[in-house]
Amino acid sequence: MAKFPEPEKEINDVLICMRCKARNSKTAKACRKCGAIYLRKKRKQAKAK
Ligand SMILES: [Zn+2]
Repeated sequence: MAKFPEPEKEINDVLICMRCKARNSKTAKACRKCGAIYLRKKRKQAKAK
């Protein structure tokens, strides 16, 4: 059961702000929310603890 019907390709094409964790498009040069330039790619596989 998928609670979040997000297409995987969309998840892979996203950048995560390292400051506020906001999602930005992969073409973004700065966070659209807080303006930080520290963006990282979101990994498909989450590290299981
Ligand atoms: Zn941000």
